[in-house]
Amino acid sequence: MDIDFEKIGDLVARLAGKDTVELSQLIIEGKENVSEFLLAEKLELGINHVRNRLYRLQKHNLVSSMRKKDKQKGWYIYYWTFNLVQAKSLIKSLKEEEIGSLKKRLKKEEEDHYKCSRNCLRLNFMNAMDNEFKCPLCEGMLKQTNNNKIIKEIKKELEVLLEEPCEKIAA
Ligand SMILES: [Zn+2]
Repeated sequence: MDIDFEKIGDLVARLAGKDTVELSQLIIEGKENVSEFLLAEKLELGINHVRNRLYRLQKHNLVSSMRKKDKQKGWYIYYWTFNLVQAKSLIKSLKEEEIGSLKKRLKKEEEDHYKCSRNCLRLNFMNAMDNEFKCPLCEGMLKQTNNNKIIKEIKKELEVLLEEPCEKIAA
């Protein structure tokens, strides 16, 4: 299986913290039911630190566990599996959220705006007209601002997001 660790790394870092990136990769590479003690050993960390990171991943359903009693030591050991399906769906919904907020921003930027030369505040056309094109704070003349640069940037960002192949993280 060909897995996009970069995408998964971005996701877990964002949701569960940067220190879960390497851990996630180890669990994925271990395929299924990876012992938490093995993970602690590979990361050279105490078991409680590893568990703390695992719980953060678990909060987002990115990992699941099953426990087994260790017959010799008599205690329970948890075995962890990474949930690729959940990762995929989280990547998709975060992307949709991002697209939605970019579209909202774009709409706002595309409206006409008016500002005085001191940049006191930004008014839309109706408000600027109500104020007779004078700044309500400094009484300076209001002029239409040019948002073309920002609009261009947002459009470019949107294009990249929309053109990205559909959340493929594992083939
Ligand atoms: Zn002003």
